[in-house]
Amino acid sequence: ASGEGAPAPTQSAVPGIRKLIAVASGKGGVGKSTVAVNLAVALARQGLAVGLLDADIYGPSVPTLLGIEGRAALSDGRLQPAAAHGIKALSMGMMTDPKKAIIWRGPMASSALVQMVEKADWGVLDVLVVDMPPGTGDIQLTLAQKLKPDGAVIVSTPQDLALIDARRATAMFGEVNVPVLGIIENMSGYLCPHCGEASEPFGHGGAEAEAKAMGVAFLGRVPLDIALRLASDAGRPGEGAQAEVFAGVARAVAGSVG
Ligand code: ADP
Repeated sequence: ASGEGAPAPTQSAVPGIRKLIAVASGKGGVGKSTVAVNLAVALARQGLAVGLLDADIYGPSVPTLLGIEGRAALSDGRLQPAAAHGIKALSMGMMTDPKKAIIWRGPMASSALVQMVEKADWGVLDVLVVDMPPGTGDIQLTLAQKLKPDGAVIVSTPQDLALIDARRATAMFGEVNVPVLGIIENMSGYLCPHCGEASEPFGHGGAEAEAKAMGVAFLGRVPLDIALRLASDAGRPGEGAQAEVFAGVARAVAGSVG
């Protein structure tokens, strides 16, 4: 009833989920999951209905980061995401025994993940944030193709090796026509909590320069912060000095996907 010629309401490929945002990195250990969780919580604090899918099959860390224990429940044959910190979350870590290695082959893993988006009981979401598996291999490419995210956020540390991989990740999303919303520089500088000296174990500013060179937005920098690591390990996202940074990233992301 919105009148003729009005644009169709924007909708992701999955009914009920308005926008899908992938959080990706060219390699592991750069803080992708930390960013995904804190971004999801920051988006929820801005009034959006937010889901988080932990698609990091080989190292699912979202349950720990959100303080969720146990397996995902099934109701009427549908997987039920768990509620925590104002968001809904589903993780490969809630499907499997944490003590057993996950040895799924690529095609099986990507189809399981697509089902976790399409068939789980997410309800109505403004945004589903997908914490992608690290890297730019077949699984990542297949996921990007099948999930058709509305945008991707790339996480990198400032040093050259990570940036080369971030460039690959950006190119991968380009290949499947997923807009890269921007790059976040994580572990950008370290402020010693004891002596107050600022140091730069991975250099600094590399991701911003790289973003500029690739013509994508720079979304901000998160320093190496012991408080962030401790809060993450304790399953308490959205706390401390970095909450402000993530709020800014959330505004930029929400603004660019509409
Ligand atoms: P990835 O998902 O890229 O593998 P994680 O988000 O799991 O990386 O982060 C790897 C480790 O680094 C975790 O222990 C996490 O708490 C820590 N970490 C991530 N970002 C920061 C940061 N800015 N300051 C301190 N610790 C961080």
